[in-house]
Amino acid sequence: MKNALRFLAFLGLAVLLFSAAVADRTEVVSVAKSAGRAAWLAAQGFDLLAEHEGRIFLAVSPEDLARLSDLRLPFRLETARLRAGLPAEPAPAGGINGDYHSYRELEAELQTLARDFPSLTKLSTIGQSLEGRNLYALKVSDNAAVDEKEPGFLILGCHHAREWISVEVPLLLARYLVENYATDAAVRDIVNRGETWVVPLVNPDGLEYSIHVYRYWRKNRRLNTDGSFGIDLNRNYGYKWGYDEVGSSGTPASEVYRGAAPFSEPEADACRRFFLEHDFRALVSYHSYAQIILYPWGYIDAPTDQDAALAALARKMAELMLPVNGRLYDYDRAAAGLYTTNGDTTDWAFAVAGIPAFTIELPPLDILHGGFFNKETDILPIFQENLPALLFLTRTAFAAGMPGTDGEQEARTAAPPRRGGDRGKD
Ligand SMILES: [Zn+2]
Repeated sequence: MKNALRFLAFLGLAVLLFSAAVADRTEVVSVAKSAGRAAWLAAQGFDLLAEHEGRIFLAVSPEDLARLSDLRLPFRLETARLRAGLPAEPAPAGGINGDYHSYRELEAELQTLARDFPSLTKLSTIGQSLEGRNLYALKVSDNAAVDEKEPGFLILGCHHAREWISVEVPLLLARYLVENYATDAAVRDIVNRGETWVVPLVNPDGLEYSIHVYRYWRKNRRLNTDGSFGIDLNRNYGYKWGYDEVGSSGTPASEVYRGAAPFSEPEADACRRFFLEHDFRALVSYHSYAQIILYPWGYIDAPTDQDAALAALARKMAELMLPVNGRLYDYDRAAAGLYTTNGDTTDWAFAVAGIPAFTIELPPLDILHGGFFNKETDILPIFQENLPALLFLTRTAFAAGMPGTDGEQEARTAAPPRRGGDRGKD
């Protein structure tokens, strides 16, 4: 029985890894696992997918393959072996991105929302990407055209190009708020009381590249001085930028390359300026995958001076999410729960404003459940389970007393169980 389960798990892994690789030039390779090797590979910028039966599986580009060879690290090419387990699966209707929004589809949907709900929304751009695409921000508030000096809540998506689900959740939240304003008193209260801003697509150039060229693309599309492409936008923020070589990299080809200077990238800099121009009381930045709610610090494994309050908020959010679809989101300080990151969004937002700032790594839990590939039919359930947590955080942010948990003492009870385990880079 145990062997059968193990085989099924591996077959699932095979299907997922191969279906990820088949559309582009990615290969899947494995290397023998040894003490510290996974962390070392991650620090070198390799894209870790899973650990299975004593081996570490990596998604590698042709350039990564050359690097592996240069490192004289024996690896096994797994792509062909995994092909055998792959069932014929039709491509999603409407192109590779299916129900996921491309840049143009997102733009059209935001414009439709703004047109259909003119008093509750204001569509603006907070800047442009390197390749000149708009970085859209949709404000949801009563009298949205007017600056009423209300408290704000900022929800960001898709710093990382391949994390397509992170575009959908902020977008669906905006839609939910405007469509339920007339009929739901709790929604109306939130919309009347504050300004909810969604910026669903921080990295449009990367997303388009992920859709059209290379599904595993993570960074933006900066041409670096060494001829490699991309800066990790979630390592380009200014607090403890470049703190060490573990939480980000100074090597341009690395998947976690921090760039030449803090806020060197127009996408991260636009978020900085937008944030500083508003009175945000809370921030959520969506990523995938790992199914965990993370709060500062990320750059070092140490608590902030708001640790208990942040933990209580995260615990309450996880507690609200669990019953919706039965999915357990873990919660932890970022460096303790996932891996250290320096120059990320939430450390910076917390450092400059002292507000609750969360990175929510959406499902799935791990590569065995799909990694960066969430089924189209899972978009809505993932939004639905995040909704009560977002509404809770919004209500708390728009009430007096943020940061902190005054009036939310129930958050200290009935904590869902914690989860452990290895996670990849997201
Ligand atoms: Zn990410």
